Amino acid sequence: MLKIGYLELNNPLAIASASQEISRELGGSNGSPGLIILGRFDLHQVAPSAVRSRMERIPSRSALGFSTFGGDLDDLAEAAGMAAEEGWLLEVELPRAEGIDEVVGAAKGEGATLSLRLRPNGLDDLSPLAREAREGGADLLHLDLCGLGPAAPKVVRKVSDGGAPPLLAMAEVGDFEAAKDLLSMGADMISLSERADPEFVGWLAGALKRFQELVGWYNAPKHICSGGDLRGIAFCCPPVKNCPLLAALKKMGISPREFIEKKIALTRGTPLEAGDGTCFGSLAWCCKITKPCFMRDAVLVEEGIAPDEYMRLKKKLAEDLLKA
Ligand code: SF4
Ligand code: SF4
Repeated sequence: MLKIGYLELNNPLAIASASQEISRELGGSNGSPGLIILGRFDLHQVAPSAVRSRMERIPSRSALGFSTFGGDLDDLAEAAGMAAEEGWLLEVELPRAEGIDEVVGAAKGEGATLSLRLRPNGLDDLSPLAREAREGGADLLHLDLCGLGPAAPKVVRKVSDGGAPPLLAMAEVGDFEAAKDLLSMGADMISLSERADPEFVGWLAGALKRFQELVGWYNAPKHICSGGDLRGIAFCCPPVKNCPLLAALKKMGISPREFIEKKIALTRGTPLEAGDGTCFGSLAWCCKITKPCFMRDAVLVEEGIAPDEYMRLKKKLAEDLLKA
């Protein structure tokens, strides 16, 4: 369902354990979490062989990773080499003495799939760090948002809009809606702690998987005018009135005319080009599938585009529109 570097994940739910053990129930001998990250390993104290023996004890078919801190760049490179060899995710907790470039260089130089874990410090804007991580080549940014309550989705939106690698958001998630609040603001994955109830983990992982099968874009954004992140421009109409799209385009650094031209060019020759009878003559400008509209739905039926396929096409459009 989801690919992060060389990891293939069955669903977007992760367990990030602060301890170097994980229970059989939670690890999911049935592979219920998409990813299990074991931690925390102090690379100054623990040799890669010790990490390996802990990892080999995890009773799961989920994708696996381990979280690290401390040590120097040579220790990090050694751990990265082992992660790459085993097909595990290497996670590095920030901040570290070295800069992001050096950390990413040491891990990616060994071929590891790399996650950087970061916790906001007060009101700090994490966007510059996130951009640096993406430009450096990090595969994942793990945001620890525990304790932020309702502010957590807003932090995700800000970091996502600033240009970030795929985002893994750790927060207090107790139901499907709380998970969706983070995913619809730009998170690609959700992580829970090792204290999570195994039954809830299994249920939420299954629900997210079914949601993807049904809707075609499990972390689809809200419309921009409903507070969605920048990916919501895929659902925007042409900028013909004064609305929040104008501020979104300013953030992206493109003019309304460029936006129109880009959207037309990106949908030309694709199934989204059709749309006679819709407000703006093309599905390119049409709303999210969850907004009821008989005009759009009539075109989808006529063109033989299933609703989940429509959302997959919109996802691709959002990615292409946001490409630098
Ligand atoms: S262009 Fe349409 S969908 Fe986009 S923000 Fe404006 S009113 Fe909302
Ligand atoms: S036709 Fe319907 S879905 Fe398309 S832009 Fe108009 S209201 Fe939105």
